[in-house]
Amino acid sequence: MNEILDCAIIGGGPAGLTAGLYTTRGGLQNVTMFEKGMPGGQITNSSEIENYPGVTGEITGMELMEPWPEQCQRFGLKHDMSNIIQVTKNNDLFTIKKEDGTSVQAKTVIIGTGSSPRMAGFKGEKELFGKGVSTCATCDGFFYKNKEVVIIGGGDTALEEALYLSKICSKVIIVHRRDTFRSAPNTIERIKNTDNIEIIYDSTPEEVYGDNMGVTGIKIKNKNSGKITDISVPGIFLFVGNDVNNQTLIQDDGSFLCNMNEQGQVIVDINMKTSVEGLYATGDMRIDAPKQVISAAGDGAVAALRVINSLL
Ligand code: FAD
Ligand code: NAP
Repeated sequence: MNEILDCAIIGGGPAGLTAGLYTTRGGLQNVTMFEKGMPGGQITNSSEIENYPGVTGEITGMELMEPWPEQCQRFGLKHDMSNIIQVTKNNDLFTIKKEDGTSVQAKTVIIGTGSSPRMAGFKGEKELFGKGVSTCATCDGFFYKNKEVVIIGGGDTALEEALYLSKICSKVIIVHRRDTFRSAPNTIERIKNTDNIEIIYDSTPEEVYGDNMGVTGIKIKNKNSGKITDISVPGIFLFVGNDVNNQTLIQDDGSFLCNMNEQGQVIVDINMKTSVEGLYATGDMRIDAPKQVISAAGDGAVAALRVINSLL
């Protein structure tokens, strides 16, 4: 553990990559971004981006993010493909512990580990995950070409992915627990105007079932009548929100390294500063995050400029 980084960036989504671009281009020599998979973040699961400024036409999340890592590397950002298990601070230095047992020290840390898809919590969901239950339409949609699928959820993700799946599948049935959606009006309009999308309101899943080949159907319950409806489908997509990835901030005694709110989001000020000097939190994991690519990228830039200010 010899190396001391100027800045360790944890997470390679829009927040982490932008922090990487701004720190290195702003003059820091020794910056490493730790990302456990391919950089790009959760937006790479999206099939269509309509709201990234300056980007018009049909573009997938993967296409949007593809040039970002290369742009950072041009200015000297190092990429370490590691799962970070813990960040601690002793005296003035942070220790970043990797899953392989090694550690790196850093003067400052910008964390942007984002969030992960949530499970809805009904019977059979875990057992059949990956066997017909999915949280990624771009990854798994093709398996259901010309077949019927059910989507659980009523937010932006559920509706946008319903539109994507409606182009592949013969029919998409959206099951939502209320009678109004939590989504952009334009998206709701498109959903209502798509012939092969059916909406079932006020209903929640009771049980997904299947055989040794995978999912064969789902039972849903109407909250007003109590009636159970059985739908025969081979694919169920869950889009019921996300949980913040804050595990790396948990200390040996179970407390968090910095102040968090009740939902496990990191409390930051307008400069993305946490309660710990030198630690910045960005993107979807911080309080009041708008949960957008553009705002995550903005957070990364703000944090990077503060880090540069504090070190140079
Ligand atoms: P993330 O994108 O979640 O990136 C976090 C990164 O950290 C990941 O790459 C992860 O692998 C890495 N990581 C996590 N833990 C560790 C660890 N322990 N060690 C190392 N690396 C780690 N927003 C829009 O603006 N427009 C859209 O059209 C849009 N569509 C969306 C569609 C879908 C299906 C989804 C799921 C989201 C969509 N969003 C959209 C929201 C947008 O994707 C997020 O707001 C944005 O990606 C948040 O960026 P982030 O950098 O904070 O986190
Ligand atoms: P979300 O906004 O939290 O919506 C989750 C949906 O799932 C809600 O409709 C919720 O119902 C439902 N739900 C939650 N738990 C459930 C359960 N156990 N069983 C059944 N249904 C359940 O999540 P999201 O759609 O993934 O969006 C996350 C964030 O990313 C949002 O801020 C969103 O705006 C953003 N995002 C933006 C875009 C875009 O800008 N184009 C695209 C995708 C995502 P209720 O409505 O009753 O709560």
